[in-house]
Amino acid sequence: MSIAENLKQVWAELPQGVQLVAVSKFHPNEAIEEAYQAGQRIFGESKVQEMTAKYETLPKDIEWHFIGHLQTNKIKYIVPYVALIHGVDSYRLLAEINKAAAKAGRVVKCLLQLHIASEETKFGFSYDECLEMLQVGEWKNLSNIQLCGLMSMASNTDDTEQIRKEFNQLHGFFLQVKKDFFLDDDSFKELSIGMSDDFRIAVAEGSTLVRVGSRIFGGRTYI
Ligand SMILES: *Cc1c(COP(=O)(O)O)cnc(C)c1O
Repeated sequence: MSIAENLKQVWAELPQGVQLVAVSKFHPNEAIEEAYQAGQRIFGESKVQEMTAKYETLPKDIEWHFIGHLQTNKIKYIVPYVALIHGVDSYRLLAEINKAAAKAGRVVKCLLQLHIASEETKFGFSYDECLEMLQVGEWKNLSNIQLCGLMSMASNTDDTEQIRKEFNQLHGFFLQVKKDFFLDDDSFKELSIGMSDDFRIAVAEGSTLVRVGSRIFGGRTYI
């Protein structure tokens, strides 16, 4: 199946209000161009250098979402053009993005990354750490940051009930955070959950942004 056909199948499974981030990491420009020709405009990348090289050579109406782990010394390379940073997992990183965004004269949209999976290796705030950061409130002074919602990854397991439970709990947490901290802020509305193997579950559990890679572009060779 072609990239265009894969895309159409994924689009067909997304209800209105759920956007697709086509995760193009490790795939060449030609693959992105094929998806672009088919109508896809939002692409996700996890490496700063790779995303910046693609941004510089591909059409300028592409929305680039950074979905990887962002190192502070690389923030400045993506801040001038990035549409959304999905994986903010510390106040320090948020403050550094704010600083770089101020320098670039932009307001940068960010999602807070939660750690909900059973594996210990994944990045992200625990629920308690996230609440504490929000309660301390210093983020309110970061005028070049706009917090738009939450992002997470479920456990890497075949147990769909466990994945559903993790997503469901995160959705509950999202609603609580929305109510307690962002009730008057219309831009806090995104829940970035769901990848190739679990995006259907994520959509049923309140996702607004799914990040789908291999289901569209095929397998990747990890570097
Ligand atoms: C690679 C990646 C994806 C896409 O994964 P697939 O299983 O290929 O759909 C989604 N989110 C993040 C954070 C990723 O790193």
